[in-house]
Amino acid sequence: MTTIALKTMFRCRKTHKQKMLAQGTLAMLADLADRYPGKTFEYVSAYRVSRDESATSPHRHAQALDFRIRGVKLRDVRDYVWRTYSHVGVGWYPQGSTGAYLHIDSRPTLNDTSWTFVHGSNRYNPYWAELARRPEQVANKTHERKPGS
Ligand SMILES: [Zn+2]
Repeated sequence: MTTIALKTMFRCRKTHKQKMLAQGTLAMLADLADRYPGKTFEYVSAYRVSRDESATSPHRHAQALDFRIRGVKLRDVRDYVWRTYSHVGVGWYPQGSTGAYLHIDSRPTLNDTSWTFVHGSNRYNPYWAELARRPEQVANKTHERKPGS
């Protein structure tokens, strides 16, 4: 896809300003596109520069993308991104007004941050983030043996 098409697709929906998404964010998106071939990505929001967008928001700096993938469990995408990448923000929005979505951003100079957005606020360092980065524990739970088996 051309740069112009991407800029238009990810433009600020309120101001119609355009800015290319950060390289790290595009790289994650390209990786996800490879991981889920043939799936439709629905973009909820990307670049946001309206007055009500916080000065520190990764959306304001075109580093963030809110999206979902049709027919794919958001939990799987969430855990994969969090497990695979560093210098990222991963936010899970299970109760979005227009449906659940996932926020990802690249933040080269900041610590990894994970959160779940519930009842109007961010809950940081949620259980899923801890589990996703401890694959041996997840594996043990999945393969838990029943007594006698
Ligand atoms: Zn977001």
